Amino acid sequence: MTVAADKEDDNMFVFACTSDYAAVVETLQLLKSKLRTSLNSGATQVYSPDHSKFSNYRTINRDITTADGRTVKAIGIGDLEIELPNGSKRTKTVFERAVHAPGLASTLISISRLDKAGYLVTFNKGMCTIKNPKGRTIATIPHSNGLYKICASKQAKGENHANTVSTKMTISEAHHKLGHISHTAIKNGVTKGYFTGIDLDNGLNPEFCDACAKAKSAWQPFPKESKTRATKYSERVHWDLWGPASVKSLNGHHYIAAHIDDATCETILYFQEKKSQTVNLYKRDEAYIETQTGN
Ligand SMILES: [Zn+2]
Repeated sequence: MTVAADKEDDNMFVFACTSDYAAVVETLQLLKSKLRTSLNSGATQVYSPDHSKFSNYRTINRDITTADGRTVKAIGIGDLEIELPNGSKRTKTVFERAVHAPGLASTLISISRLDKAGYLVTFNKGMCTIKNPKGRTIATIPHSNGLYKICASKQAKGENHANTVSTKMTISEAHHKLGHISHTAIKNGVTKGYFTGIDLDNGLNPEFCDACAKAKSAWQPFPKESKTRATKYSERVHWDLWGPASVKSLNGHHYIAAHIDDATCETILYFQEKKSQTVNLYKRDEAYIETQTGN
């Protein structure tokens, strides 16, 4: 079965029409343990991140806008084969001119595309039914968690991947999809089976991640020496809190707060019982300087 594409419709916009925002986030951004296919009433095309399902493939370079305003790269167009569940059977369906977007977490089937091609899509009592132009039911898809999701079929040759399809991706792609976690964590997660649906492509060297470099850069150390010096009294004041001393003073103090004026090196020591007294001492000190000197 082939669903024809409208050649003029080149708009690329992904929008999941559902009341469940969490489900939208899940569909558009996060790679979950199972790569799913969703029916989507807002998408203008059929999109898939899975290159292996395409034939008659040609490369393109376009941006897709998602409902949350992000853009995802569309890198190819081709005929996409999807198996739609239909009771106990499955209907092999080819969507012409589907868009390959590796950044999406799941395959999105556009309802408007089905509609334009003469298919009838109905939603009733938590079940979505798709009929072909001749009126024959080709798919029945149950509602789950705010979306109509189509789980991939069992793999042939008795493989142990029931209801999941692994997507081949490089470690850098996995790093982006899994919220910028470390490469070691990704490798560990895949080998130990914490993540499924990811088939790591070890052929390519990891790319440098700009976002991580910006977000995780270390703070500059506090300079050992100041390059500037205050020119007048109380323009800059340093405070240093020391303690606790192992032995209390006769008055019960075992902390010392030191006030040092940058310009004159005037030093005042305040003896305290508790660390928490420092802030009040500082306020009193500041008020005193302001009243006495106007600085
Ligand atoms: Zn990163």
